[in-house]
Parts: sequence; structure tokens; C-alpha cells
Amino acid sequence: MHAERMINLTEEFASKKGGISVQTEHIFPVIKRWLYSDKDIFLREIVSNASDAITKLKRLEALGHITLDADEDFRINITVSKSESTITVEDNGIGMTNEELEKYICQIALSGALEFISQYEGDGENDSANGIIGHFGLGFYSSFMVSDTVELFTKSYTGAPAVHWSCDDSGEYEITECDKKTKGTKVVMHVSESEKEYLEGDKIREILNTYCAFMPIDIYLDVEGEEHGEGCDCEECHHEHEDGCECDECHYEEKPVNDKSPLWLKQASECTPEMYNEFYHKVFKDARDPLFYIHINADFPLNFKGILFFPRLDAEYESLEGQVKLYYNQVFVADNIKEVIPDYLLMLRGVLDCPELPLNVSRSYLQNNVYIKKVAAHIVKKVADKLNALCNVDRDKYESIWDDIHLFVEYACMRDNKFYEKVKPSLLLRITDKSFMTIEEYLEAAKEANENVIYYTSDVTLQAQYVSMLNAAGIKVAIFDKPFETQFISMLEGYGDEIKFVRVDSDIADALKSGDEKDEDEALTALFRTVSGNDALKVEICALRDESIPAFLTVTEESRRMEEMMKMYARSGMSFGQDSFPLDYTLRLNRSSSIISRLKAKDGKDAEQIADYIYRLACLANRKLSTEEMKDFLNASFEILSKL
Ligand code: ADP
Repeated sequence: MHAERMINLTEEFASKKGGISVQTEHIFPVIKRWLYSDKDIFLREIVSNASDAITKLKRLEALGHITLDADEDFRINITVSKSESTITVEDNGIGMTNEELEKYICQIALSGALEFISQYEGDGENDSANGIIGHFGLGFYSSFMVSDTVELFTKSYTGAPAVHWSCDDSGEYEITECDKKTKGTKVVMHVSESEKEYLEGDKIREILNTYCAFMPIDIYLDVEGEEHGEGCDCEECHHEHEDGCECDECHYEEKPVNDKSPLWLKQASECTPEMYNEFYHKVFKDARDPLFYIHINADFPLNFKGILFFPRLDAEYESLEGQVKLYYNQVFVADNIKEVIPDYLLMLRGVLDCPELPLNVSRSYLQNNVYIKKVAAHIVKKVADKLNALCNVDRDKYESIWDDIHLFVEYACMRDNKFYEKVKPSLLLRITDKSFMTIEEYLEAAKEANENVIYYTSDVTLQAQYVSMLNAAGIKVAIFDKPFETQFISMLEGYGDEIKFVRVDSDIADALKSGDEKDEDEALTALFRTVSGNDALKVEICALRDESIPAFLTVTEESRRMEEMMKMYARSGMSFGQDSFPLDYTLRLNRSSSIISRLKAKDGKDAEQIADYIYRLACLANRKLSTEEMKDFLNASFEILSKL
């Protein structure tokens, strides 16, 4: 069975029997019951104890207390045996003396834990239990979540006699001496009948992959009966090959299941883009490359390391939920820790290694933790710094990803004005000609066209005519076509930077005028009021540089925004007596257009028909026509065609 055989007890080392404490009958059922949905962590606890034991030994050497064999192969071996229903975790670390075993394993600091348990008994929330396990040093006992009996064989590096400890799930334990020859500890978990799934290699591999993928000591897994394992008698391992054969099977190399020096521990200067991409693909199972990444190496007092990735999101709302994995000294703690990353950056993916946190953290612990708040603030700063750096140093790359990231950046600006203040110089405007400009660049260029506002379109197709009118006058147009971008614009205007945004179908006549003339024509006003059926329609005459356009509609920026606000309130169930606000439209007639000149020369039915058609065209270029309007427009067109 096990290599260590129980040996006869010597005088000085008397066999000992006992109960872990009078209250253990409380602890064991709690361990089994409360951690029901999170049993997998038992392996993390046992393997991280093994890893700690080796780290401690190395530390003793570093401090000059001991000398270790130069070629000692520090490793953790995990063996799964279906035939014996055991999972064994063995390390060659510091080991324990009999006294240490009693102190660290038998006399667990139960008082605090029991108090906690009595307080929360009946509360099945896994989170609370997870808190107990770590905070009260019950990590080792999580092995009882999957085992009936746990055995421990340990030999201290000091050379003290090796000890065997065995405990069943009633809490009854027995300590005897054993003949373990080498330093270190071996934990044998006798898996309960109901937990047989933990004897499957794939299950163990999956747990190791989640929790132990980056632990600092090599971990080897040996599953009884699996290919290439010890004692494997499959054909591959036993086939006959010529001498000197170089094939994989003949050169089967035992590989650890973990990567003990993950990328985040390296200096950013040592890492290439390929290394970041490869790490990202592996950890987040995403074949696409991330848009960019941020390597964080925060020194004292924050003292955490990590890499954040901005994922490429194909569909607009694909996986808005990011994935930030929290580690404690390379041991996985939890996923999607919302407390560490502000919600507006939650689409980020990444790894954060925070040795300042306990291995087992509860959400409530994180929520109120000052350190976590500082980590979150640091992350926000790093994201802002990265955006600024990309904008200043790698503008081409920055522009190439702006379409993918702008919504998140804008949203983040709206949620956090500190973030906005930081990234303000790097906010890009998407221009209709497919170029990108910062706000400053836009305003600089606008000055040349005697403008001081930012023109934008909320619908490139619908407002195409306005965009081309402005473009013809040498004015660029930015695109803000996502629903919440209207609020983003208002936010930018509200910051006191005196930025003003004007939609292309607003009062743009000034920008387009070839001269200062602007006048009214009573006859034309009356005519257009008749054909539009709107007695209050404002009609103004201007002279555009573009002679091809006879007329267009504008509505003041204020009145349109008021209307949008009313609609928003109405949608959210609030009402102020009226659900819509009458839009203040002005029909602008272009004196330079030959169609308007011809219209002035006509009268009677002809004038009405032309005016009606001009009005319909202006509506068409301004908004979506209703079904009725569209029918009427087509009929009017056919009538005109039939006259030609
Ligand atoms: P924690 O690891 O949080 O202290 P545990 O219950 O997991 O709590 O372990 C209690 C103690 O038992 C450890 O602090 C350590 O001193 C000792 N221990 C556990 N496993 C090992 C091991 N593999 N090698 C040496 N000491 C161990």
C-alpha cells in the first residue's frame, strides 16, 4: 500500500490517540456540508501547503540556516489511484516534527472558527464557509470534504523521527512513528464512496488547471492506468524500437502540469508581444489576440503584479463580462472579483497576483478592504496611462483599435470623472471620412474654417446630405451613433471645457453660408406652410455654397435634446404631462439653387407641386419617413415623372 510502514513505537515516542478537540464533532459536519458547492478547493489547499513547505525550506537555505543539495529536485507529486481510492500529494519540503504536527494539525485554532460557525450555522452560503476555511487555518481539513480518512506521513528536515497521522471523518486521530526516509510530507486522502469523481484524471487535471496552473513549484500528476504514467503498460510505452530511435514515445518526458514562472512575474521589458498573446490564448481560451495589454508591477505599499488584457469583442455585446483572475502568490483564489476592478472596466480580462490578501477571501471582506480600493484605483490609473501612451506613441495602433474600444472608454469617462480627466487628451473622434482626431485636433482644424464647435452625426446614412454639405464647406463631421453617446456628449460639454457639439441637422446654416444674407420671403413662407400643412413652420432663406441643394430642414440643438430627454423619461416611465416636445423645425431654402429661382417664377398649382416636392425631399434627408409619408412621396415622384 504505502511505502511507509507503521513501525513499533519507541519509549520516547509513545503512540497517541485523541480527538482534534472537544468541538470537532461540530467542525467535520460543517466542513462537509458548507463547502458542498466548492469542494474542488481541497486540492488547492493541500497542494499549496505542499508548495509552502518547499518554499519554507528554500527560505531557510536563503537565510543561511541550512544547506540543500545543489541538484535537489523540488517537486510536488500527485498520485491518483482508483484501485485504492486515494489521492496522494507528496512534497519534499520542510516536513513536520511530532510536536509541529500536534501544534499545526491537531490543535487547530478552533475557538474563533467555532464562534463564527455558531453565528452562521444554517446559513448555507458558500462564501461564508470559504472565509472560515482560510481565516482559521482549516485549509488542511478541507481534505475531509472528499475523504473518509486522511493520512499524513511527514519527516522534518531536522532529521527528527518521521510521524504518521491518521484521522477519520469523526475527528478521531492517531499518531504513530513511521519509517518515512526522506524529508517532506505525504498526504493520503482516502476518497469517500460518494466522491469517486475525484478519482478521475480529468477531474483532477481540471482542478489543477484552475487553481494550481501557476504555482511556484513543479507539480507532477500521475494517474493510475493513464498513458505514460508510472507502471503504464500500454503499447506506446512498450513498443519495440530500434536503438537510437528519436520518436516521442521513446523520449517521453515527464512534464509538470503547471507553469511555475508565469508571465506576470517577469519584467515587462523581458516579454514580447508574442509572449503576451500566447499567455492570453492559453489562460482565457480565446484564439483571438487581445487588442492591447497592460503589465502592472506595483511596488510597496500595493505590492501586486498582474497583466490586464483588453479583449477583442466581435459582436457588440459579446461577453461584456470580462474575467479577472485573482491569485495569491501564484495560487488561484477567485474569478471575476468585481471589487478589484471598477464595474466600468469589467470587460477586461487579466490576472492579478496580490500577496497582501489572504488565500481565502470572501466578497464581503473585499468590499470593505482599503487595500483593494487602492489596487482598484491603481488599475484605473494604469488603464488611463496605457491609453495615453498608445495615443502618443503608437497612434496608428491606437486608431486601429479605437472602433473596438471607444464605447468602453466613453462609458468609463461617464462613470468616473477622474478617469475622464486622465484620458481626456486621448479621446478620439471618429470622423465620417474614416479618419480619427482628438478633440483638440478637431477644434484646431475647425478654427481654420472659422468654427468653434464640433459637428457630429448620429446616423451616417440618414444624415448623409447634411454631412456632405458640411464636408463641402471644409468642415469635418464626427460620428456619435450609439444611444448612450448623446449622454457622453452632454457630459463632455458639462465639464467646463467649453466644448460644444452641434448635430449636423441643427442650426448649421451659418457654417454653410456663402454670404451673410439671410432673409424671409413672405410668399415662399406662405407657400411652404400650405404644402407642409404646418402653419407655424419657420422658413428662412439662405445662400449656400452648394448650389445643388434646394432646401433642408434644421432643428435647434436645444429643442432636439429636449425632445430626446422627454422620450427617455417616457421610456423609463416618468412623465411630465407630455411625452414629446414639439420640435422647432426651420425649413431653409437655398437662394443659390436654380430650383428655388424657378419656384419663385412659378405660381398656382405648379408652384405648389414644386414646393411640395422640395419639402418632401427635405423631410426625406432629415428623418425616417412614416409609411404614409413614403407612399405620398412615391406618388408625388411618379406624378412629376409622368409630366416630363
Ligand atoms: P494554513 O496553511 O492556512 O496555515 P492549514 O490547515 O492548511 O492552514 O495548515 C496548517 C499548518 O500545517 C500549516 O501552516 C503548516 O505549518 C502545516 N502543514 C500543512 N501541510 C504541510 C506540509 N505539506 N508540509 C509541512 N507543513 C504542513
